[in-house]
Amino acid sequence: MKITLAGLLFIFTTQLSAQHSLVFPEPSNVEQTTDKFVFNGRLTVDRTKIPEDLFPYLQQLFGRQSIHLEPAASKDASIHLQQIQTFVYSEGYQLEVTNSGIDIKYSSYQSLCNAFQTLNQLIQNPKELAGIHISDQPAYAYRGVHLDCSRHYFTILELRKFIDQMAKLKFNRFHWHLTDDQGWRIEIKKYPKLTSVGAWRDSTLIGHFSKQPAEWDRSKYGGYYTQEEAKDLVAYARIRGIEIIPEIEMPGHASAAIAAYPELSCTEKQIPVVGTWGVFDDVFCSQEKTRSFLKDVLDEIIEIFPSKVIHIGGDECPKVNWEKCPKCQSIMEQNNLKTSHELQSFFIRDIEKHVNAKGRTIIGWDEILEGGLAPNAQVMSWQGMEGGIAAAKLKHQVVMTPTSYCYFDYYQSGHPSEPLAIGGYLPLEKVYQFDPVKGLEDEYKRYILGAQANLWTEYLPNIQAVEYNAFPRLVAMAEILWNKGKVPYADFVEALSGNYLQQLRNDGVRFSTSFLDPKLEIRPNQTGVNYGLIKPVEDVVFSVNNEIVTGISIERTDQVREQRYLIHSNIGDQELRVCDYTFISHLALGKPVSFATKPHEKYDHNGSLGLTDGVVGKKPWKGNEWLGFNNDTVQFTLDLEALTSFGKLQIETLNDPGSWIYRPERFVIQLSKDGKKFKTAKKSNLNGDLILLTKKMKARYIKVTIFNKELIPQGQTGAGFTPWTFINEIILTK
Ligand SMILES: [Zn+2]
Repeated sequence: MKITLAGLLFIFTTQLSAQHSLVFPEPSNVEQTTDKFVFNGRLTVDRTKIPEDLFPYLQQLFGRQSIHLEPAASKDASIHLQQIQTFVYSEGYQLEVTNSGIDIKYSSYQSLCNAFQTLNQLIQNPKELAGIHISDQPAYAYRGVHLDCSRHYFTILELRKFIDQMAKLKFNRFHWHLTDDQGWRIEIKKYPKLTSVGAWRDSTLIGHFSKQPAEWDRSKYGGYYTQEEAKDLVAYARIRGIEIIPEIEMPGHASAAIAAYPELSCTEKQIPVVGTWGVFDDVFCSQEKTRSFLKDVLDEIIEIFPSKVIHIGGDECPKVNWEKCPKCQSIMEQNNLKTSHELQSFFIRDIEKHVNAKGRTIIGWDEILEGGLAPNAQVMSWQGMEGGIAAAKLKHQVVMTPTSYCYFDYYQSGHPSEPLAIGGYLPLEKVYQFDPVKGLEDEYKRYILGAQANLWTEYLPNIQAVEYNAFPRLVAMAEILWNKGKVPYADFVEALSGNYLQQLRNDGVRFSTSFLDPKLEIRPNQTGVNYGLIKPVEDVVFSVNNEIVTGISIERTDQVREQRYLIHSNIGDQELRVCDYTFISHLALGKPVSFATKPHEKYDHNGSLGLTDGVVGKKPWKGNEWLGFNNDTVQFTLDLEALTSFGKLQIETLNDPGSWIYRPERFVIQLSKDGKKFKTAKKSNLNGDLILLTKKMKARYIKVTIFNKELIPQGQTGAGFTPWTFINEIILTK
C-alpha cells in the first residue's frame, strides 16, 4: 500500500514527539507553530467549493463547538480550500493554521471530510486557534465498525448518533449486520413476511447463555428498517465519508428467514424466530429455490446500498440438515461435490456469480474459505488472523477482524460492576497492540485492506450498552488503522483521558473508564505478596478509606482469610469508578508455579503467580483473573519453597460451554519433597467444578495434571474444537 503523499507543495518536518496531539486519531505529521489565528466564533468558507450535502453537516459539526460556519466569497474566506489532484492517497489532506487563516489542501470528498474533522478537533475554544501544520493520511484504506442489529434492534436515530462518532474518528465503513437467527431487520418488498414475521421474536433469553436453567423475558421484541429508512441512513453516512456495507447472512444464521418462509430450510418445518444465542441447525437449504430467493433479496439490497461490496455472511453453518436432505444430496451428486464444505462453497460461488453480474463484489466471514474460496470474494477474517493470511496468499482482499483484538462484545475489564458480556477479555491496551498485518510476508501485505471492530449485540440490549462497549476501544482501533498506533500507549491514554473523554461527554456518548482502573502488579515477598497499584495515567490518584495508597500488602495464612479493599480513583475532582478487590490469603500465596502446559497468551495474567496471586476468579466469568488453556491436558507444578504441611488443596475450574470452556473430566495430584520423585496423592475428587484434595500431607512440590475432553461434542457451540480449561487460585490450607 502506497502511503506517501506525492505532489507536496511543501514538506513538513516530522516532529518525532511521543505526545499525542489534540486530534484523534493522531495525524501522520504534526508541527506546532507560534502563530495564532483569531476568529471570534465565526469561520467562513467559499461554499461553492464544498459539496452541497456536506455544508449543512459541517455547520452542525462546528455548531456543537459554538462556531458559526458561514459562506463567504473565496477571497474573504477564513478557511481557504485548494483541491489538489496529485495526492497519491485519496484520503490524505494538509491543514495549516497561520496568523492569517486556515489553509486546507485536499484531493477528494473523503479527504475534505477528514480535514474538517481534524479542524473541528483542533478547536479548543471558540475564539482562536493555535498555529499548526498537519499533513495526514491513513495507514489503511478500510477502517470499519460492525454493528449487529439483529440480536438487538437500534433505531435509525441511534444509528445516526453512532455514525457521527465513527466519522469523528475517521472510520470509513459501517458494516450493518441486518439478518440473523434472532431477527430479520430489512424490508424486502418481494418477501413481506421476512419483516412481518421474521423481525419479531416472542421471547428473549435473560442472562448469560450458559446459565442453567434458562430464563426468558416472555415479551415480544423486534423491529426493522424500511428501505426508505435504510436509504436515508446510507445518505447520512455518505455525507460523513462513511460507506455502509449491508450483510445478509447465508447459508447459516437463517432462523428468522425460515420462520417467515419454512420452505427455505431442508426440513421445511415451521420454526420460531430464535430468542436465544448460538448456532442453529436450521439453515438455508442449498436447493435452487432457496438460492433464487436469496438472489431476489440481494437484488433489492443492491438497489438500496451502493457499496462496492455486499456481505453475505457465510459463518457458522452447521451441515447436519444438508447431510440428511435429499435435495442437498442430489445437488452434491449432480455437481460431483464430495463434502458438505464443498457444497457450501458451491452455494457461495453461485451467489457470487449473481452479485458479480450486478457489478458488485461479495465479502464473507472466513469460513467461506472452507471447500474452496469463490473466485472474486473478499474475506473477513474473524476466527483469528489465519483465515485472512490464507486468503491474502491466494491474492484475495482481506479485512482483519480477529476475535482477539476486534471483538468489542468481550469484557474490557474484570471489574465486578462490568455489565454481563459474552465472555472473552479485550482491554483497551490490547486493542492498541493490534497489528492487522502481523505474520504476513511483505509481498502479501497489500491484500490486507484494513480491519474492523465488531459489535455483536447478544448482551448489548440498548444503544447505551453498545456505546459503553465501543468507547473508548474504538478510539484505540481508529489509531491503529490510521497511524498504526505510533504514539506510545501511555501517551495515548494520557491524551485520551485528558481530551477525548471530554468530547464524548459533550456528545452525550456513554463510555467506559475501565482503562483508568488501578492495575495490580504482584510482588511476592517473604511473608506473602504486595500488590503495587500501577497508575495508567499520571494524574490519577488512588485511595482506600480516604488515604492515598500506592500498594496493598497481604500476608500468607494457614487458613483462608478474605480481605476486601475498595479502591477509589480520582483525576482532579473527577471521580472514576470504585474498584472492589477481594484478596484471599492461604499457604501457597505468592509461591511460584511452573507450567508444563503454558496458559494461552490471551488468558495468562500474572504469569507464574497466576495461580497463587490471592485473586480469585469471579463467576460469572469476566474474561480475566482465570488462567485459560486451550489444551485437553494441562499440567503445572507448585513450589512451596520449603517442606510444608497442609490438609486441604482446592482449585476451582470453570464450566461455560457457551464460551467453549469445559470443566475437567479428571485429574491427578502428585506430591514430592525434592522435585524429582513424585507420589500420587489419594483422596482427591472432582466436586462439581472444584478440584479437591483433603488429607493431612507434607510436601514441597505439588504437581497437578488435569484432563479435559479431547474435543467439544457435536451439537455444542465450537463442536470439533479443543475445549478450553479454565482454572484459578490453588488454595492450600492446614
Ligand atoms: Zn437441503
